[in-house]
Amino acid sequence: MNPFSYARPSSVAEAVREVATNPAAKVIAGGTNLVDLMKYHVERPARLVDVSRLPGLKQVEARPDGTVRIGALVTNTDAAYHPTVREGWPLLSSALLAGATAQLRNAATIGGNLLQRTRCYYFYDAQMPCNKREPGTGCPAISGVNRVHAILGHSERCIATHPSDMCVALAALEAVVHVAGPGGERRIPMAEFHRLPGHEPERDTNLARDEIVLAVELPAHRFGLHHTYLKLRDRLSYAFALVSVAAAMEIEDGTIRRARIALGGVAHKPWRVEAAERMIEGIRPDPRRFDEVAEYLLEGARGFQHNAFKIDLARRAIHRALAQAAAGTPQSQTDKRIA
Ligand code: SF4
Repeated sequence: MNPFSYARPSSVAEAVREVATNPAAKVIAGGTNLVDLMKYHVERPARLVDVSRLPGLKQVEARPDGTVRIGALVTNTDAAYHPTVREGWPLLSSALLAGATAQLRNAATIGGNLLQRTRCYYFYDAQMPCNKREPGTGCPAISGVNRVHAILGHSERCIATHPSDMCVALAALEAVVHVAGPGGERRIPMAEFHRLPGHEPERDTNLARDEIVLAVELPAHRFGLHHTYLKLRDRLSYAFALVSVAAAMEIEDGTIRRARIALGGVAHKPWRVEAAERMIEGIRPDPRRFDEVAEYLLEGARGFQHNAFKIDLARRAIHRALAQAAAGTPQSQTDKRIA
């Protein structure tokens, strides 16, 4: 690990000042991703700005307008088990519990989860070239071992996937990220928070270098029982998704009034195509339509030598997730067998 200096700001304004005035600074809270990256020499911050004790960012706050604001420093465990989240937005609770291990969820924060970096093997190996780690050096994953890589939205510069489970649920729920920078606060819709790799794979998000995450806001629509977070992985625990699906529906008198679907493990950001959701709104749940939704969501999917299997896996996962959501039988994150 490289030497670094350490700052512990006592206010959001002070934290923003720290990152704005020092381009080599990194923000740390739970440290469950950043410390690994520092040990592997992937990240070499000259200064760590420890925001873990900032006041006002550890609350889950239900608002009179039906929305809820989850502070950036709320741990994954506290968010998943908070009664407001569990009862009101069970899709988010389920996705949080599908991720990592209990120990990691106890330390990891909501803000850090939003900003965690890809698990591409080459990205973590500082001896290898990698456009995300060192722009312009190449992408060995394209012709190398690419079993866990993207099938949608990839570029000739990078085929990495976004690793978070939580973010897939936040994308489906149309959450909004609140951030603060030198110019004040702003809101970034989840659809615009993460980026596709394009020509700048080194940029995972649209958060500016001098901004910090304050909170995530969940909209008032909750989807009740008709949701599921279905995660398919190589083993049932402590593994990143090969493919995951967050699905939610509002069903009235047997008809789907509103639908939301987002995919994880398939692209550089949670994958959502709103037109696919419209295909099942206003109709009764219909397995043939679920297949059509899957085809639409996966339009243009292209696999590589080791991950082409993900296309069919995703097709089946989308169908299964929509069936689970329609039936009101969400995937259990304790008994992980898929019904
Ligand atoms: Fe690096 Fe992206 Fe290629 Fe992985 S897929 S080696 S992160 S450029």
